[in-house]
Amino acid sequence: MLVVQIKPKEEILPLISSKRIFILECLGCRDVHYPVEAAEEFIGDLKEEVVERASLDYLCHREFAQEYIRAYASQVEKAEVVLVFSCGVGAQVVSSLLEDRTVYTGCDTLYLNGFQGLTAKEYNCEQCGECYLNYTGGICPVALCSKHLLNGPCGGSQQGKCEVDPDIPCVWQQIVDRLVRLGRLDTLERLGAPKNWNVSPAS
Ligand code: SF4
Ligand code: SF4
Repeated sequence: MLVVQIKPKEEILPLISSKRIFILECLGCRDVHYPVEAAEEFIGDLKEEVVERASLDYLCHREFAQEYIRAYASQVEKAEVVLVFSCGVGAQVVSSLLEDRTVYTGCDTLYLNGFQGLTAKEYNCEQCGECYLNYTGGICPVALCSKHLLNGPCGGSQQGKCEVDPDIPCVWQQIVDRLVRLGRLDTLERLGAPKNWNVSPAS
């Protein structure tokens, strides 16, 4: 878990409006930093149908998260959307475990100088302060695209590999493939505001 804050309601509510929701909340680092009260208020105010709300420790631990989610398989099946309250690493783990489900994050992950938290090495989060996972099929372009592109691929990818480093996959190809599988390719038609890099360690 890294340092997180709950996203603004105006960003999340249009995504989940009138949907059946499965809520997954990571409390593993509650003592480090997790905005318990803000999450409680956000979830308590939801008008949508909450199929199930589950809390666990360390969503960033893939094997553990997999077992836990498996125990809730029928509830996940009933839900149209899985809404995760965790850092960017936890949200990416859930997204990769539920490849055929739409997974959204309710949090932005913040950079705190000197604090690196505990993260699974295979999932990258640059703690960029404005999480993009809701628009990229749960795959992070900030950390995984060589050019940190946020609005689509550069066009240089060859056979699914990155033109900057052919040893790594083109993450935008992965994002497009995932959105196609979910029937959500229209997500890429969204024109987002320019990223505020002032809230990112890259600033
Ligand atoms: S977009 Fe990527 S780097 Fe930014 S908070 Fe989300 S997972 Fe982390
Ligand atoms: S080829 Fe893909 S991963 Fe590489 S820089 Fe271009 S968009 Fe990013």
